[in-house]
This record gives sequence, structure tokens and C-alpha cells, in this order.
Amino acid sequence: MVFKHDALIIGSGLAGLRAATELAGKVDVALFSKVYPTRSHSGAAQGGIAAALGNEEPDSWEWHMFDTVKGGDYLTDQNIAEILSKDAIRAVYELEHLGVPFNRTPEGKIAQRNFGGHTRDFGKAPVKRACYAADRSGRVMMDTLYFEAVKKGIKIYPEFSVMDLIVKDGRVAGLVAYELATGEVHAFRSRAVLIATGGYGKLFKVTSNAHANTGDGLYLAYKAGIALEDMEFVQFHPTGIQGLGVLISEAARGEGGILRNREGERFMERYAPTIKDLAPRDMVSRAIYTEIREGRGINGEDYVHLDLTHLGEKKLAEKLSDISSFVRIYLGLNPVTDLIPIQPTCHYMMGGIPANLHGQVTDAGNNPVPGLYAAGECSCLSLHGANRLGCNSLLDLVVFGRRAGMQMLDDLGRLPWTELPADAEKETTDLIKRLKENRNGERAAGIRRSLQELMMFDCGVFRTASGLEKALRGIKDLEARAANLRVDSTGTRYNTDLIETVELLHMLPLAEAIVASALSRTESRGAHWREDYPERNDETWLKHSLVSKENGRVSISFKPVTITRFEPKPRAY
Ligand SMILES: Cc1cc2nc3c(=O)[nH]c(=O)nc-3n(C[C@H](O)[C@H](O)[C@H](O)COP(=O)(O)OP(=O)(O)OC[C@H]3O[C@@H](n4cnc5c(N)ncnc54)[C@H](O)[C@@H]3O)c2cc1C
Repeated sequence: MVFKHDALIIGSGLAGLRAATELAGKVDVALFSKVYPTRSHSGAAQGGIAAALGNEEPDSWEWHMFDTVKGGDYLTDQNIAEILSKDAIRAVYELEHLGVPFNRTPEGKIAQRNFGGHTRDFGKAPVKRACYAADRSGRVMMDTLYFEAVKKGIKIYPEFSVMDLIVKDGRVAGLVAYELATGEVHAFRSRAVLIATGGYGKLFKVTSNAHANTGDGLYLAYKAGIALEDMEFVQFHPTGIQGLGVLISEAARGEGGILRNREGERFMERYAPTIKDLAPRDMVSRAIYTEIREGRGINGEDYVHLDLTHLGEKKLAEKLSDISSFVRIYLGLNPVTDLIPIQPTCHYMMGGIPANLHGQVTDAGNNPVPGLYAAGECSCLSLHGANRLGCNSLLDLVVFGRRAGMQMLDDLGRLPWTELPADAEKETTDLIKRLKENRNGERAAGIRRSLQELMMFDCGVFRTASGLEKALRGIKDLEARAANLRVDSTGTRYNTDLIETVELLHMLPLAEAIVASALSRTESRGAHWREDYPERNDETWLKHSLVSKENGRVSISFKPVTITRFEPKPRAY
């Protein structure tokens, strides 16, 4: 059976939900999520959402825009950063009016706190710009927007994994999805598809990301011939729980937490004298690894300490309760009295599906692909440049999710229906059959583990040409092994073995795209740090990369950065 909706949204994280609520009641819109919708990774966001409300101290959208551009190491498209920082204020009040229970100041205004890279007066000192609900800001935003979607009667397909995007004659015709509960494969016809599938931290061994963050949406766009933008920029968050990667929000440092090496020294004073522990994530992650490499990790091992002991029990309970319980549960430590062992964890992808300021996916010539849209972490609006600032992602989701929804609505007035091919599901059903019938192949788990290790060690915080070349060779070997994958579980109900195997097939080409882009960029900028090219080189590299794959060959091209207000300057904090 073929289902039909005007607009389909892949992903029910905050980006997908915000777009869907814009369309609801005006056109027939449906949302897909491969996990139960409210389990989308947006619900794990802890620290907050940035907006220059100026509730705690003077602030302005220009300062926010400047911080976003500087934080992105000047690769940020400045017209997009301007939209973000101006619209932030409206967007946060909109969330408040929908019912998001933000923390409050004593006078009843939305409370705000410090966050990495957010400053006043163009970099003079940290500013309180992050609006928050304790350390579960994403959770409350998700629940509020999900409730809004249910209230508006949006059709939701829960636990449907989208396996194929159907693009015919250069325009979107629909998609193919696998229903986890039954094992059935369904075709969906549509005039507009928004990809809002989130991040893909699962490509790396140590990550803060949810299990489902495997980059399916990017893979579908890449397979359909869309070149992916700025893929080399992978953010490592400085404070993941050692060995596990589970996130300890930057809010911990925003509230006054301090990083210390084995000598107990507050080492960030040496790397970022003005804003110290609140420097952007790329700088802090490199600083931690530098301390470790120079023998100042705790006990000479690969971690340092996050010290929250001076914050006091009351503040920890009121403002950092979730992370305090993570420390108790995962480490058996008490943050009130104990130092927390942390190490950088793969956290956020600056790169993704290129989209313009209306959320329309663009082709190599920068023209919109009819009927195809992207929003949220899977998209690359060139907003976060080479490094995203904390609290700017939740903001990106609601600002640009809404804009994508508005544009879809507008375009739907013109977009025609395209016939789905008669055998739209065939590629998906053939793949499932092949995986289930192969009795002699290899299981996905071992290949996935090798991929995650290779990405972590050869394409992580520090990179070199030889490491990246080794990674490329490794990925080729893993791809050869993946040609002979098998799944042990052949059932039809909740076959997660099958889904995870298909996800691996998505992850491999994305890993190759990241490594190839990283190898090509022979400079260091933001989160992309080449030890063999340790300087930023604006003359040659102030440009976005685009990676594409045709007939098995990967190629890289470039497009210019939009600079409006702030000329690139060296990035000191
Ligand atoms: C632990 C953690 C804490 C964070 N804290 C903050 C913070 O405090 N502030 C901030 O600004 N940012 C934060 N971030 C970043 C931010 O939360 C994410 O970038 C953002 O939530 C991504 O939202 P999204 O809507 O793009 O995707 P997600 O919320 O990840 O949702 C993706 C959706 O796509 C669906 N999907 C994926 N593939 C398929 C498929 N094949 N078929 C069907 N559905 C599919 C999933 O089921 C899901 O519904 C944090 C991130 C993490 C991991």
C-alpha cells in the first residue's frame, strides 16, 4: 500500500517538531521517527538555549552574532548568524508562551547563565545568555513541542525507520520506511520532504550522542546526489564522563565549575586568559589533550578533573541535578565532595546537508532541490562554521525549523505531485532479503566497533595527513567487509539487529566523507586541527567544503563564506 501526505518530516526531534507545528492544520503533514518520538536526542540536551534577553545583565543580539561568528572561527555565514541571534529573542518567548518551564530570576523573568564562548561587548567578558530549565532544558522543550504536535493532530509514524528517499527527475517524490513493530516496508508519496534526522556522533567510539544518531538522513541525501558541506568539522565536547562519553553539560562550568590537571592547576588560565574554562569547546578539548600528552593527566592517564566541589550542595541540586545523578550512578562519586574524571567526547557535527536560510536543500550550483528541505543538526546552514557554541543548537532547531516549515508551506502552493516508481520499495526489500538470507557473512557489530575506533584515533581532536590516509584505507577495508554483512535475527517484529546493520551501511560512506574532507583541508580552523598545518589560513581556506560521491569516487569542491559585519581576525579568548 502507498501512503500519501503533502509533507513528510523525517525526525521528531526539536527541529522536526518545530517545522511540523508550522504546517499543522494548513496542509497534511506526517512525522517519522525511528525511535519513540520523545526519545529523540533533543530530549537529552542539558545546558540551555541562547538568546540575548538581557534578563540578568546587559546583552545584545550583535554581541551574540559576533560570538557565533568568532566561535565558528569565521567560517560561519554571517547573514545566517544574524538571523539566528536576532530571532532568538522571539523564539525563546514563543517557547515560554507554549509552556516551557524555564528557571526564573527572583523577579520572575527567565533566568540566564554563562556558557562557553558567549561574551559581552565583543569578547570582553563572559555574559549570562543561556536560558535553561535546570540541566534538562532539551527534555522540557521536547515534551512541550511534542504535546503541541499531538494537540494539533499531526500524524506521527513512531518507530518507522526511513530507508530510502525517492527523488525522480530532480524532484522529491516520497520515501520508503520500515515499520519496526511489524517488519513491513511502506512507500509514502509526498510533495515535500524535510530531513531532520539529527547528528551522527555514533561514528566515533566515545560520544555523548544517543544510540540512534547514525546519520541516516545525511546518507539518504548523499546517496541522492547531494554534496555534503563542511563535513570535516566534528565537535568534541570537553567534558564527557571518562570512558563512557556521557555528557557533563557545559552548564557545570557556566555555573562556576573548574578544570584541573594532576597538579590541581586550573590549566585553562594558560590557554584562554580572559574567559578561562568558558572558552569554546574546540579550544578546551585541545587544551585537555595537550595536558594529557604533556603528562599532566590524572595519574598520567587520559583524563583530567572537573571540580564542582566549591559550588555547594544546594546549587548542584537546583541547577545541575541531572548531571549530579549521572556522576553518582555512572561513577559512584559525589560531585559535592569528589572531583569528576572527564575526557573529550564526540558531541556535535557542524557539517551536514547544505541548506539555505529557508531550509531548502541546495545542489552544487547553490540552487534549491524542489521539494527537499533540511533542518537541525543534520543540516549545514553554515551557521556554526568550524565550531558551534553551546546553546546555539537548540536555538538553531527552533529558529530554522520554523523557517523551514514556513518555506514548505509557501512552496506547497506550487509543488506538483510526482508519481512514485512502481517498484519504489524494491531497493529496500532487496537489501533486507539479502541481509537476512546471507548465512555466511559477517555481523555488523565488529565492523562498527572498528569504524568507531578508527574515527576516534585517526580523525578525532588532532589530525595528520598520515593518520587520515590510514583512516581512509581502513574505511575501504571495512566497506569491503560490509559488502558481505549478515543479520542473525531473521524475525519481523522489532528486529533491531536488522536496523543496526542497515545503519552501519549508512555510517561507512559518511565516515569516508568526513575523512576525505579533513584530508583536503590543509589548515587548522575551529574543531578541525591539523598538526601538520597548525595555522588558520584565510587566504586559501576561508571557504566551505562540499564532498560528493559519484561512481564510487569521492570529490571535493568549495563555496565561498558570506561575510557581512565581522572581518576575520585571529581567535584569542
Ligand atoms: C547529551 C547532549 C546534550 C546537549 N545539550 C545541548 C544544550 O544544552 N544546548 C544546545 O543548544 N544543544 C545541545 N545539544 C545539541 C542538541 O541537543 C542537538 O544538536 C539537537 O537536539 C539535534 O536536534 P534535531 O532535531 O536535529 O535531531 P534529534 O533530536 O537528534 O532527532 C533526530 C530525529 O530523527 C529521527 N531519525 C533519524 N534517522 C531516522 C530514520 N532513518 N528514519 C526515521 N527517523 C529517523 C530520530 O528518530 C529522531 O526523532 C546536546 C546534545 C547532546 C547529545
